[in-house]
Amino acid sequence: MKIAVIGTGYVGIVTAVGLAEFGHTVIGADKVSEKIEKISHGDVPIYEPGLAELLKANLKKGTITFSSDLNGTIQAADVIFVCVGTPQGDDGSADMSQIEEVSRLIAENLNGYKVVVEKSTVPVKTSSWIKRTISLYKKSDQEFDVASNPEFLREGSAVSDFLRPDRIIIGVETERARDMLTEIYADFKDRLFITNIDTAELIKHASNSFLAMKISYINLMADLCERTNADVEQVAKGMGLDPRIGGLFLKAGLGYGGSCFPKDLKALIKIGEDLGVNMNLLKETDRINVERTRHFLEKIKRALWILKDKRIALLGLAFKPETDDIREAPAIKLIRDLLNEGAILRLYDPEAQANMKELFPEDKVRITYVKTPYEAVNGVNALLLCTEWKEFSELDFGKIKGLMANPIIIDGRNIFRPEAVRKLGFEYYCVGRK
Ligand code: NAD
Repeated sequence: MKIAVIGTGYVGIVTAVGLAEFGHTVIGADKVSEKIEKISHGDVPIYEPGLAELLKANLKKGTITFSSDLNGTIQAADVIFVCVGTPQGDDGSADMSQIEEVSRLIAENLNGYKVVVEKSTVPVKTSSWIKRTISLYKKSDQEFDVASNPEFLREGSAVSDFLRPDRIIIGVETERARDMLTEIYADFKDRLFITNIDTAELIKHASNSFLAMKISYINLMADLCERTNADVEQVAKGMGLDPRIGGLFLKAGLGYGGSCFPKDLKALIKIGEDLGVNMNLLKETDRINVERTRHFLEKIKRALWILKDKRIALLGLAFKPETDDIREAPAIKLIRDLLNEGAILRLYDPEAQANMKELFPEDKVRITYVKTPYEAVNGVNALLLCTEWKEFSELDFGKIKGLMANPIIIDGRNIFRPEAVRKLGFEYYCVGRK
């Protein structure tokens, strides 16, 4: 079986390399030829731990190749994993134009039976549209199947998530497609969950929306904690001891971001509303999340009063640790708000600075990017913590205090120990705890 992976973004490149690692012959293709050029030489365009090593090893073994010839790639493949983007559209629904474009391309190059696998996150019933599109545009009477195999990898641990998945969801409607996908994932027979396509598509949106809901739930509890003597970290711990609830995704803070949760939640709201289902539960999840950065800004103002011309260090720009991805990162909204208030910003992130620079270019007056957290805090009136990179919890606070103009920390991820930093003389604000 020859496998094609169309779209070599975060999901596509990991999928291509992961499938090659499972022993398959894989061609990765993307319409951005510069990206393909880089990847073909073992140069990973994103920061993802372990990916560069695995890519290089598979390029060397010859199990993986990359091409910007999309027609040739489709023609050569038996199974095509579609990993293109499904970004948020203007009305909240998923913009399906990349999926439609690839479907037409597959139709035009259908030179034999192929299984078209939706790996991208798509609204329930997308497979019917893909089928209709391929049938409308195909030039031959060749057969094909559409299948769903949603991806659950997490940026920052994408490689191990792909190589050691806790479940593989497969949605199919024919034996032939089922057999081919089962063969691709032969090493994981015990973790396969095979169902119909609509169900598989919905499992992905339902999972992401549920996790987003858990985060908003604990943030709602954090708001309650801030008005009482309760401590949200302890509340989360106590709740998580119940195996029906579980402790994961109960971390109060600046809320969720990234390219998945915000858009997938909104897409599911739109799907539900279009189908006449009241989606208020998820609308509230979104509202609570959107409020997080406003609450955080209020805390900053409570500490600094007037922000105009205040020097502020912002540590952590990526939407979460171990990635350079800034899509929907809380830091973006915060930087925008702080600039609107007239603050002077010193920004630091171990991996995401280049991406943030594209959005907020350095001007050395209001925005300066620095190389270390210590450089960031030099002469500032406050330190804001936005992403819980491990290196931030290992900082030398004695040194930090000596460098800051005012020893004020506003911790949006609760990574510092309140007693410890206060003992060192810092004024310390956090989320849902005193
Ligand atoms: P991305 O934007 O990083 O990558 C998409 C890639 O597709 C880009 O390289 C783009 O050039 C390419 N592309 C677009 N149109 C194309 C076309 N017509 N032909 C060939 N290539 C084309 O997106 P991503 O983060 O990899 O996400 C892809 C999908 O996977 C989305 O549906 C997303 O919701 C889903 N997903 C993402 C994650 C994640 O953590 N990023 C996790 C699970 C699922």
